[in-house]
Amino acid sequence: MPAVFIGHGSPMNAIEDTPYARAWAQLGRRLPRPRAILAVSAHWVTEGVAVTAQPRPPTIHDFGRFPRPLFEVQYPAPGAPELVARVAGLAQPTPVRGAGDWGLDHGTWSVLVHMYPDADIPTAQLSLDAGLDGRGHYDLARTLRPLRDEGVLILASGNIVHNLAASDFVGAAPPHAWAERFETAALAAIRDGDHASLMEPERLAGAESASLSIRGPEHYLPLLYAMAQQDPGEPVEVLMPGVVMAAMSMASLVVGAV
Ligand code: ZN
Repeated sequence: MPAVFIGHGSPMNAIEDTPYARAWAQLGRRLPRPRAILAVSAHWVTEGVAVTAQPRPPTIHDFGRFPRPLFEVQYPAPGAPELVARVAGLAQPTPVRGAGDWGLDHGTWSVLVHMYPDADIPTAQLSLDAGLDGRGHYDLARTLRPLRDEGVLILASGNIVHNLAASDFVGAAPPHAWAERFETAALAAIRDGDHASLMEPERLAGAESASLSIRGPEHYLPLLYAMAQQDPGEPVEVLMPGVVMAAMSMASLVVGAV
């Protein structure tokens, strides 16, 4: 099973016919059908590591001022509570807890409504532990590599460049130079298999472009969960590269041959 990283961008991709929504739908049709999905979303940061444990995880609308139809979206996929014990076993000695206080947030469902519109694949979310640095996230993610052989799709969802304060929501402004520089350098490291630089993103295109591109690490870190699944020599396919709204990279990745 390949692993994927999705640049999810605006939650409106869930309900609008965008090039990204179409690319995600096409990707869902290309991938082998997963037995289960373990999603790592930018929108669930916790102390310690947690995995959603519900047999029916709720759809969480974790955003503010958006049109009502976005709040009406439901993604009623069954949960995958068995992944709590499986992830805990793989991550040892790192403790992993089952969580009943989260569900599927928009980092997950805004993508899955297009990839798997029937919502019939058991899905759990894995949280981002606020206490880990880039290396810590990568090492934890690497312990999950056996899941690919068990038919579990690791679906990481964030954005390689994500700076809302520097974004242009009208959509007319060209990309900031630092945003393009950072995305280009990150994609080069991805194509080169240079995981060490991805773990320390200030090495990619300098500290300034990294600090402007990664405003709060949560949208960048899911990238490490996908890249940590790459075995030496495995291909990585880049989908939909490019910076939109001046400061958001929409690049997505498929790690492993499809
Ligand atoms: Zn987001």
